[in-house]
Amino acid sequence: MMPCFETDAAALNSHPTWMEIDGAALHHNLDEVRRRVGSGVKIIASVKANAYGHGIQPVAKVLEDAGVDMLATGSFAEACALREAGVSTPVLLLAGALPEAMGEVLARGFIPTIYDLDGARAVSRAASESASAPTPVFVKVDCGLGRVGVALDQAAALIDDIAAMRNILVQGLYTHVSFNDSQGMAYSQERLRLFYDLLGSLKAAGVNIPITQALASSALLMGWRDDCTAVCPGHILFGLSPVVPELAELAPFRPILRAIKSRVIQVRDHSSGPDRGTGAYHKNRRQRRTVVAPCGINDGYRGAVGTHAAQVLHRDRELRVIGVSLEHLTVEVPDDVEIAVGDELVVVAGDGPVALNRVAAWQNHRPIEAMMTFSARMPVVSV
Ligand SMILES: *Cc1c(COP(=O)(O)O)cnc(C)c1O
Repeated sequence: MMPCFETDAAALNSHPTWMEIDGAALHHNLDEVRRRVGSGVKIIASVKANAYGHGIQPVAKVLEDAGVDMLATGSFAEACALREAGVSTPVLLLAGALPEAMGEVLARGFIPTIYDLDGARAVSRAASESASAPTPVFVKVDCGLGRVGVALDQAAALIDDIAAMRNILVQGLYTHVSFNDSQGMAYSQERLRLFYDLLGSLKAAGVNIPITQALASSALLMGWRDDCTAVCPGHILFGLSPVVPELAELAPFRPILRAIKSRVIQVRDHSSGPDRGTGAYHKNRRQRRTVVAPCGINDGYRGAVGTHAAQVLHRDRELRVIGVSLEHLTVEVPDDVEIAVGDELVVVAGDGPVALNRVAAWQNHRPIEAMMTFSARMPVVSV
């Protein structure tokens, strides 16, 4: 087990709860994307939202080693964390920002996303002070998602206005369509055609933009290809599917989440109380013994809602969760199970009885939503 970033051993001993990710699976998923898009297409890997909950620093290190062309995140703080981890791959800021953020964004060397004239002017003002070469920006077009971006019919005019600002270079032009069912897919297909029309008319007008990009996980899962020079996958790199299983098989992409684990810090024998049926935790207790591990709500663990009982694994044996509090996870243990302080409990795994999709379903969550609840402070190791 090799820590990908420095994990404080003392902190891990006093709060032994961590996440293990599978670097080989991440390499495999990236290779699968490359196989689908062909070798000439650049890969901008989306590592937003703490790499979809998997730990942005260790994930980005693996992706940098694997040679991705660019990393994309929505968060300035996360972009800074990449640099602190020694990652030097160019970083695109996806989310957009207030004009007053541009000075700091450029000072750090991040590539801003622009979608209106105010943003472009703010970049131009901030850029003119230091840069010798034009400052690269990406322009984002909204072609139907209805979120951030310049409207399709105003994009050419915005690009024209930016071209007049001599200290800015439109290095990239991109859009984002994401869908999860066949209806959304049909709509996305139709809207993407309008984006490709825009690219065609810009080209015809002699506007040269080196990086163009429109395809993300849902499109790549469907096997779509286009003439853009880049793609920007997120979900599939982590082995997560943004689409319903009826639409596309997630295989051959593999989950990079190996496990979330926590160690037993106490074994309790309740033979002399509290009695079963009493107290919050003991209402539903069936066994004589319980163990406690430090994997509580604060760590992002939630147990189950409704009538389903959550389980954790102890050496492949399923143990029933009887309580989750802010700091602690309490599990009951049948008499035939040998268990001791320091033993590992698997709270979430890549597959099997505590697979992420099952743990998420106990909460009526999608897997990505469950990943978002796990604490970003949980140490992550690449195994
Ligand atoms: C999140 C995001 C992506 C990646 O989307 P996935 O569905 O996770 O592959 C691509 N482009 C933009 C603009 C995004 O915000």
